[in-house]
Amino acid sequence: GGADIECDMLVLGAGPGGYSAAFRAADLGMNVVLVERYATLGGVCLNVGCIPSKALLHVAAVMDEVSHFEALGISFGKPAVDLAKLRAHKEKVVGKLTGGLAAMAKMRKVTVVRGVGEFVDPHHLQVRETGGAGREASGKQQTIRFAQCIVAAGSQAVRLPFMPKDPRVVDSTGALALAAVPRRMLILGGGIIGLEMGTVYSTLGARLDVVEMLDGLMPGADRDLVRVWQKMNAPRFDNIMLKTKTVAAEATKDGILVRFEGEQAPKEPQLYDLVLQAVGRAPNGKLIGAEKAGIAVGDRGFIPVDTQMRTNVPHIFAIGDIVGQPMLAHKAVHEGHVAAEAAAGQKSAFDARVIPSVAYTDPEIAWVGLTEDQAKAQGIAVTKGHFPWSASGRAIANNRDEGFTKLLFDAQSHRIVGGGIVGTHAGDMIGEIALAIEMGADAVDIGKTIHPHPTLGESIGLAAEAAHGTCTDLP
Ligand code: FAD
Repeated sequence: GGADIECDMLVLGAGPGGYSAAFRAADLGMNVVLVERYATLGGVCLNVGCIPSKALLHVAAVMDEVSHFEALGISFGKPAVDLAKLRAHKEKVVGKLTGGLAAMAKMRKVTVVRGVGEFVDPHHLQVRETGGAGREASGKQQTIRFAQCIVAAGSQAVRLPFMPKDPRVVDSTGALALAAVPRRMLILGGGIIGLEMGTVYSTLGARLDVVEMLDGLMPGADRDLVRVWQKMNAPRFDNIMLKTKTVAAEATKDGILVRFEGEQAPKEPQLYDLVLQAVGRAPNGKLIGAEKAGIAVGDRGFIPVDTQMRTNVPHIFAIGDIVGQPMLAHKAVHEGHVAAEAAAGQKSAFDARVIPSVAYTDPEIAWVGLTEDQAKAQGIAVTKGHFPWSASGRAIANNRDEGFTKLLFDAQSHRIVGGGIVGTHAGDMIGEIALAIEMGADAVDIGKTIHPHPTLGESIGLAAEAAHGTCTDLP
């Protein structure tokens, strides 16, 4: 008893997972409450993730592109950067999308409750209103009674314990705020988020160092894709420190002094004007009072779920970053739809074969399904189809022919099992390879599909034809 609001479906967290789930549940006839602590809908992705980073990366890519135009007979001169205007542009982009979501929620009669939610028992969530900075604890409280619930509380950036609390040490949210362009910037962690933000800052004038514990940048991507990226991007970096540990850091008057350990580590501590911590994200599973609802949470804060996204409590589902890797918006959206449909009694389940990954750097790197290393590790014999963009009319016309497209086929069934693209617009093209994998396409299906000429996407058909040439037993 004693609930202020009652609903069929409560969704906790309004990121891509949460709003997708809430909208689908409403479309299926449920009375839905969406609880969110941020002032706007959209979660990390829209507010401080995918979207603002892409707004800045687009600007950086255009600046880099035209900086090479002098050789084509076109000169623009040195760019003059107005950071305040650039920040305003980024905020406008975010505002358009979050405003659009609010309108869509209203249209579907989804009730948005603003505040920090915590479970009280398996059917109640308490929400403390967030009245503004620092007033969280004193705000008004409401209790919501729900029949079913979808937990979509996401993740947050991991902080290294020894990093000083200092405005010159930021996570991705701080980096996106773009307060200033530093002279020397350290990127802690050579993954997608760190290298995307590094691209923006370096184009705006910063010199970069990157430190990565593993033996290569962009862990998870095919090494030959990364090689092309690294060759093109070498001029941005003073120092790429692989297999290197960051062991200490100290805030000084002149900058953040950082010490490293490892074969490739500089012996002397290095001084930076800005340090970006991009060493990964941790799920928020331990911050929502899950135990009071009886929801099992793993040691690291991930919530285990079945293929219908159900937790151990059958009427409570969980989706998105909080249930595991890969922490990607499109995975969260797909899971959100599955959970809402399952809650409505449909037979939906998560059975996607593959989830594509994209680094929106310059050039972009995109991959889906098995990489060559993974195929080898799993003992799957593969046939390769490789198409270099130095043979692509469009890539040459674009003055950007450094990329390539690569497809991997199961040597026995000839069905496609993976693919990777490095080059401009790689991310916009990887969906075709994902579709081919989901449909069980083989090299002939892809190679005989007529692709428009001259396009970069044509390279997918041509890579398939290249593989076909090597599979002589294909029809
Ligand atoms: P989130 O987006 O994290 O949303 C969770 C929401 O829950 C948040 O709004 C949070 O405020 C709210 N919340 C949490 N706890 C509570 C509580 N107790 N009460 C009330 N509300 C709560 N992914 C991509 O696919 N493509 C990209 O290009 C991309 N770029 C990225 C760039 C950056 C800089 C970052 C940081 C991430 C990027 N990601 C990208 C990852 C992507 O943002 C996440 O995978 C995605 O946002 C996860 O969605 P989600 O719904 O699980 O959670």
